[in-house]
Amino acid sequence: MKPGNFSSSLLRWHDAHGRHDLPWQSNMTAYRIWVSEIMLQQTQVATVIPYYQRFMQQFADIESLAKADIDLVLHLWTGLGYYARARNLHKAANIICHDYAGQFPETLDAVIALPGIGRSTAAAILALSDNQHHAILDGNVKRVLTRFFAIDGWPGKPEVERLLWQHAENLTPIENTAQYTQAIMDLGATVCTRTNAKCHQCPLLQHCRAYANDRVTNYPTSKPKKTIPVKKTIMLLLRNKDNQVLLQQRPPSGIWGGLWSLPEAQCDTTQKALCAWSQNELKLTINDITIAQPLRHTFSHFHLDITPVYASVINESSAIMEQADTVWYNTCKPDARGLAAPVKKLLDTHNDVMTGVIT
Ligand code: SF4
Repeated sequence: MKPGNFSSSLLRWHDAHGRHDLPWQSNMTAYRIWVSEIMLQQTQVATVIPYYQRFMQQFADIESLAKADIDLVLHLWTGLGYYARARNLHKAANIICHDYAGQFPETLDAVIALPGIGRSTAAAILALSDNQHHAILDGNVKRVLTRFFAIDGWPGKPEVERLLWQHAENLTPIENTAQYTQAIMDLGATVCTRTNAKCHQCPLLQHCRAYANDRVTNYPTSKPKKTIPVKKTIMLLLRNKDNQVLLQQRPPSGIWGGLWSLPEAQCDTTQKALCAWSQNELKLTINDITIAQPLRHTFSHFHLDITPVYASVINESSAIMEQADTVWYNTCKPDARGLAAPVKKLLDTHNDVMTGVIT
């Protein structure tokens, strides 16, 4: 199949069957596309839509995002995961305001130089918002191309990725780049799906090698498996007399950087050890201790088994509230703070535990 036929088949299909009413498809500015592309990394469209709408309501343009408190940005990201994405958006918005007078840069190299934007994302932003001729190679496109050309090998391997970029560039038309980009993304998201591909609805069916060889499910080749380690931690849900829970802000970089989290006790899960740790490290005397079942949170490179410990604080130390990175958090009327996903989950169940619904 010639590249021109590949793209024209895809464009015709997209006119009739593509997605045309996603929130970021109206008023397609570089800023709006950029935010959507970052949110869509590692996250399904249906999950992203409400987050995207709330984000745009709060930050209608680059300047309002740049000026915002990072805590509010992280708050609007709470639950989406991969928080470095939000921190990079905020950082890049500030760079754009400072170095480009608030105008999104217009060249591929300048966009790639911004934090958190790789080659494919930069290409998608410029192709979709400005019809610039750049090829993209996101997860959907990799799936379509590995199947269409029956390319063996994990797409993360440099030699496989190089070959995929060559195909992507070869197939991307000079005209209608924006529509083609949307079309190949849509095909991967709605027809050439990870499981149960709908090949009979596919405009590429007649020339697809994976389909011809009945090997659709063999592509793309999976990443070689490695077992990931398990780490353990104890998170303290310490409530004061007003039923507020103590939160601490994490350092700006690293896991959950800048997010608000629970104190993590470095001790055994015995009542005696927990009391001693709280006294020594937080200057808080605790009692009424409940140790709950561990909760597993999985990162890309390790599992974290969290043992939640619920306790009452009987002396409220004034020293603790003088620290800027510490707050008593009202779980019934939560304020705008970025919370790590398992911390949010624990806070949501906090009241249930207190009232004996969960033990
Ligand atoms: S025919 Fe099937 S496997 Fe091939 S590109 Fe189309 S949907 Fe994907």
